[in-house]
Amino acid sequence: MQIIKTIAEIRTLVKEWKKEGLSVGLVPTMGFLHEGHQSLITRAVAENDRVIVSDFVNPTQFGPNEDLESYPRDLEQDAKLCQAAGASVIFHPQPSEMYAQNHCSFVDMDGLTKELCGKTRPIHFRGVCTVVTKLFHIAQPDRAYFGQKDAQQLAVIKQMVQDLNFDIEIIGCPIVREADGLAKSSRNTYLNEAERKAALVLSQAVFLGERMAKNGETSADVILSAMQELIAKEPLAKIDYVKAVDARSIEIVHEMKGSVLVAMAVYIGKTRLIDNFIFEEA
Ligand code: AMP
Repeated sequence: MQIIKTIAEIRTLVKEWKKEGLSVGLVPTMGFLHEGHQSLITRAVAENDRVIVSDFVNPTQFGPNEDLESYPRDLEQDAKLCQAAGASVIFHPQPSEMYAQNHCSFVDMDGLTKELCGKTRPIHFRGVCTVVTKLFHIAQPDRAYFGQKDAQQLAVIKQMVQDLNFDIEIIGCPIVREADGLAKSSRNTYLNEAERKAALVLSQAVFLGERMAKNGETSADVILSAMQELIAKEPLAKIDYVKAVDARSIEIVHEMKGSVLVAMAVYIGKTRLIDNFIFEEA
């Protein structure tokens, strides 16, 4: 498995693969890889001849007071995980390779980004759409893999691919959790022992909401209230949002009708964590 740092080298390699008729899968990540990322890579390896894992902490998706500088990084460990999972290449560019000093073009979206993370992280999805577009142009994948863990991101990317006519299949993969329920995240590393315990309140609220919906509760507001009440009992937790939206349009819903995404962002101490479930009406 190769570690490639330049766009030119990725382009050359992908051209050779395409000449040979090989299919290409792309797994965009910010590195510090865990079993959640691994599940995406494993799926990509099963469905494509070659797999590129991008490993890049994208500065344009971080707001001014967010954790760009402190975001965990460990290329050596990431390389081991990618190799074991069967990836062909890690693409690990420097920020200056992705964003030249005179860079001034961005990809943005009007809909889908008004609620949830788009509301509390106003420039986030502009950064995500821009970097993913760039990665799509660089890697020319047939398929790209994203986690349901970032449910709004997955919906945004699907919409962008449709709107901007990318000939790329977007594949969503289920949330991978720790044994006790906490959704795996590179940011879990920020948590101290007490916070790690407190963080369980996110998955507990997700499981509670999911159970209520499955048991026939049709009011999204009733479900959200129960989830919020549970989270409020944890002194280290501070809710950013807990909301129910249409899973495709990301517009607020009040009834558990059709395909509903129930999503949350909760601060545990200083660490902002997200979790969600999707309810499909039978
Ligand atoms: P990140 O490195 O956090 O930007 O994540 C890269 C990709 O991995 C995104 O598509 C995430 O949704 C996905 N991902 C992160 N954590 C998980 C998880 N626990 N389960 C499934 N996918 C995940």
